[in-house]
Amino acid sequence: MKREWDLLHTPGPTPIPPSVERAMNQPMIGHRGQKCKDLLKSIAPRLKPVFGTSGEVLVLTGSGTSALEAAVVNTTQPGDEVIVVVAGAFGERFAKICETYELHVHRIDVEWGRAVEVAQVEQTLKSSNQVKAVFLTHSETSTGVMHPIESIAERINELSDALVVVDGVSSVGGSLLDMDRFGIDLLVSGSQKAMMLPPGLAFVAMSERAWQTIQNNDRPRFYLDLRSYYDRLGEGQTPFTPALSLLFGLEEVLQLMEEEGVQQVSERHLLMQKMTRDACRALNLPLLVSEQEASTTVTSIRPQTFEAEQLRKLANEEFGLILAGGQKHMKGEIFRIGHMGYCRPANVFQYISVLEVLLKRLGHDFDAGAGSAAAQEAYLQGTREET
Ligand SMILES: *Cc1c(COP(=O)(O)O)cnc(C)c1O
Repeated sequence: MKREWDLLHTPGPTPIPPSVERAMNQPMIGHRGQKCKDLLKSIAPRLKPVFGTSGEVLVLTGSGTSALEAAVVNTTQPGDEVIVVVAGAFGERFAKICETYELHVHRIDVEWGRAVEVAQVEQTLKSSNQVKAVFLTHSETSTGVMHPIESIAERINELSDALVVVDGVSSVGGSLLDMDRFGIDLLVSGSQKAMMLPPGLAFVAMSERAWQTIQNNDRPRFYLDLRSYYDRLGEGQTPFTPALSLLFGLEEVLQLMEEEGVQQVSERHLLMQKMTRDACRALNLPLLVSEQEASTTVTSIRPQTFEAEQLRKLANEEFGLILAGGQKHMKGEIFRIGHMGYCRPANVFQYISVLEVLLKRLGHDFDAGAGSAAAQEAYLQGTREET
């Protein structure tokens, strides 16, 4: 059974807007021809506001991790001291990549479900004056935490010359990171989260300072050498065959974001976060993450009265609602709802209603309709000025 009615609410991959699907269906083109040049030239400047930068945003073919790896290999040399904040599976991945490339890693381990404190980064930074880069995750998708990147970046820039490198795979397009203003040097992302595309594209936005470091770095690298992407960008070219169908889709994604407004896109995500969290509280569902530390794109729930996996199974079988489980040691402990990209307040009403039905089946104690009512209230509050 194809089950095209499935409601995909994993924190990536995420649903694709119909107009983006249609755009990806265009006839194939040659990647050295004029059409491809026009496409790349249309995309390049329009990606900048999404990343909050006036610098270049490079597009690679690969999953999000290829952008993380590109950030590491292009900015560092073996033996360099770096700091990595590890507060979940994706911070862990950044640390692993750094270790693989023989960096001297100062880990800041943070309890899963908590955000790092600026003081922790400050302390680690002060313990060495050789730190070349600090690797951070913006939205830690495995827990649903959003780290206070703006304050951390500000402090790092005050205290050192270390590059500020941010994994924005599950936040770019879902929460505005004003890269230039925040003092972020590299902001990397992928296509299948808030960018409303299938997996397969990776993005690397660079500050001028990062570009200088990358240019002067003679560490061997080939497919992920950002210099070759940067050099070709001006001519409307890529060094290797790009994922053309995804680029057709990306052009349409940018169109959609421009129509809505990049700021409004970010506000919509905040609204959906609020609706989801208020509903969970009204349903007596324990939230893993506190209000101040919560991600705008993914919400984690740690149930006490039923098994997270049981709920996920029922949601999938009965309604085609696809939720994510926990990763690593959080497996079976939590379930996660993705509310990013092609997701709107009406979709939140839908999954909250579905959850209520399932919670009844599971014998969970709550007032009937309380979740939906809370989501509606959050929606009305959040949109009051505009109505
Ligand atoms: C999904 C994700 C990644 C990795 O993406 P892949 O596309 O699976 O390589 C990295 N970081 C974060 C924060 C993510 O959410």
